[in-house]
Amino acid sequence: MKQEHRDSHAAGGGILGWLGFGRQDEAPEHAPANAMDRSRHARQELMNRIGAFLLDNRLEITAQNLTTAHGIFAGLNPGLKRRIDRLEEEGQQVTQTWLDMATASDSERDDSAVDKLVDRLERGIADFSRTTATARTATSEYGEALEQHVDQLQAVPGADDLISDLAEYARAMLERSRKAEAELRHSEQEAAALRRNLDRARRDAEIDYLTGLPNRRAFEAVLEKQYRDAKAAVEPLSVAFCDIDHFKAVNDTHGHEAGDRIICVVAKTLAQISDDNCHIARHGGEEFVMLFRGSTPEVALQKLDDAREMLAKRRLVNRRTQEPFGQVTFSGGVANVFGYDTTGEALAAADAALYEAKEAGRNQIRMAQG
Ligand code: GH3
Ligand code: MG
Ligand code: MG
Repeated sequence: MKQEHRDSHAAGGGILGWLGFGRQDEAPEHAPANAMDRSRHARQELMNRIGAFLLDNRLEITAQNLTTAHGIFAGLNPGLKRRIDRLEEEGQQVTQTWLDMATASDSERDDSAVDKLVDRLERGIADFSRTTATARTATSEYGEALEQHVDQLQAVPGADDLISDLAEYARAMLERSRKAEAELRHSEQEAAALRRNLDRARRDAEIDYLTGLPNRRAFEAVLEKQYRDAKAAVEPLSVAFCDIDHFKAVNDTHGHEAGDRIICVVAKTLAQISDDNCHIARHGGEEFVMLFRGSTPEVALQKLDDAREMLAKRRLVNRRTQEPFGQVTFSGGVANVFGYDTTGEALAAADAALYEAKEAGRNQIRMAQG
């Protein structure tokens, strides 16, 4: 039965066929004539490969699987491609569980690999700066000593040819040494510039470009640190998720750019309650995540509710078109971090509470029952 299902797809039918994903052996036989045809041919090939991979391995057609398959066949994830090739050589199928685990460990590895690389680069720059600085000092001291000797040599009364030749060589050495010193100074300056760029790149990697808020990656680091510190200090810690209500309608009515501005307005509203003990980040899309240190979950909920009320009272207008956005609201869910075994479970509970707030009619904050 499953086989039949596969073959009907393989024949180009079903949703994959409709989307233009077919099997590899359906690729056009004739070589494409011009550049445009070649590009089309290459794209068709890519789609065929993705389609064949999902069908042959009986994988569901989900956004996640399509993205993963695209990464494999577009050459973006050569590591995973090699692992899959090996599996196929062994005559094994790629199961959903295998793929999920492979992609999960890939993304974990990616992040830590980048961090390690940056650390190594930073150490490399520091070593290089130290070495060049030492070399430059040594070169400079050597140059000064040489200069003194050359002056003394030339001052010898009635110096014969040998001495003046020696002095000539020494002068040439001196010139080279001065040049090396200048080059080393330049290298030192370049290393300093590189370090500044690296610092900036590190900061950029943790900031959301649209709102200027910390991003999810930065938040996760803060959460882990605050979790350890709050636990040690026996202080309360709460997390919250917020999601803009009916945001799709804002995009549909006013356009994506106006939607972006609404995201910024909500970010600013939430930022108003943020301080040293209240961290806020853009979790992605129109969703925000918050961390309250030193506040009981009830107090955290109250603070978030104040922000919700502040926004709900406003009547925003699209400044490009003067059309009213009307009332913009968000819903939220709060969870007591220490009421759960892990920070991940607490976040999931806050997310579930957010879902309850949506179900109960939106524009409200709910407490997780943990
Ligand atoms: P709900 O009240 O249930 O949250 O409804 P919703 O319409 O807000 O929820 P849904 O998740 O269906 O829609 C979220 C939309 O947000 C879909 C997506 O296109 C849009 N979106 C995600 N990220 C951005 C972004 O960065 N900018 C803009 N303008 N839109 C975004
Ligand atoms: Mg959402
Ligand atoms: Mg929403």
